[in-house]
Amino acid sequence: MSAVTGGPVLSVRNIRRSFGAHAALDGVSLDVAQGEVVAVIGPSGSGKSTLVRCVHQLEPIDSGAMYLDGDLLGYERAGGRLRPLPPRRVAEQRRRMGMVFQQFQLFPHWTVARNVTEAQVRVHGRSREQARERTMELLGRVGLAEKAEAHPGQLSGGQQQRVAIARALATRPRIMLLDEPTSALDPELVDEVLAVIGDLAAAGLTMVIVTHEIAFALEVADRFVFMDRGRVVDQGPVAGVLGEGTSDRLRAFLSRYT
Ligand code: ADP
Ligand code: MG
Repeated sequence: MSAVTGGPVLSVRNIRRSFGAHAALDGVSLDVAQGEVVAVIGPSGSGKSTLVRCVHQLEPIDSGAMYLDGDLLGYERAGGRLRPLPPRRVAEQRRRMGMVFQQFQLFPHWTVARNVTEAQVRVHGRSREQARERTMELLGRVGLAEKAEAHPGQLSGGQQQRVAIARALATRPRIMLLDEPTSALDPELVDEVLAVIGDLAAAGLTMVIVTHEIAFALEVADRFVFMDRGRVVDQGPVAGVLGEGTSDRLRAFLSRYT
């Protein structure tokens, strides 16, 4: 873990999010320090995706607050009250985060290079040349420089997910949010994606990774957060995950995956 400078990169304070009567997030708090890698684990339906979707502002929160580098996400203070930020400002905040989804979500009719380049040009106003340079650097980093002119449909799932990771990195996000980045992949393609994520962790990138790859999480993450029924029910350094202090629910969960 690299040096912690000042406050956390991401701070989530007691957020709630309900769908009808069902609380998908029932008061979740989480701090992620600079350079820290946090693995979010837990059973299906426990709120992991809702958590990262709320942080990325794809999903509104009902209450609580979230901060990125100390900036309140989604709201501004006006006359002692909070009011929602206009969409343009929300979009700016979202660009400071990189998100990787289970289902890659590349544009199928664009080349690999264009998938990685486009947001840099449109959103960040980089020249095509500058953006292309960064794109090739990132494709090299995920081992796909030779696929720059291919279309996503010509790539394996593992390659597509590596492109999606390159795209998320292209705008130099403060934090990467990865929601089960390997669960849509055939088993033989999982390791190449985990290797890329492991490299990013080693390079000091700040990340929140939702994953069922427990062995991998224990290897690359600094800390784990275990969610169950919309709450964080256990958390700590990964070194302690199999230790004495963990909850029965976490033990029961891990016994199914390890
Ligand atoms: P996880 O990612 O841990 O599997 P989710 O965050 O996807 O869990 O879901 C948490 C709970 O919220 C689940 O009970 C799920 O059915 C519910 N949920 C999530 N998204 C929606 C939605 N858009 N509409 C209704 N219920 C939802
Ligand atoms: Mg999920």
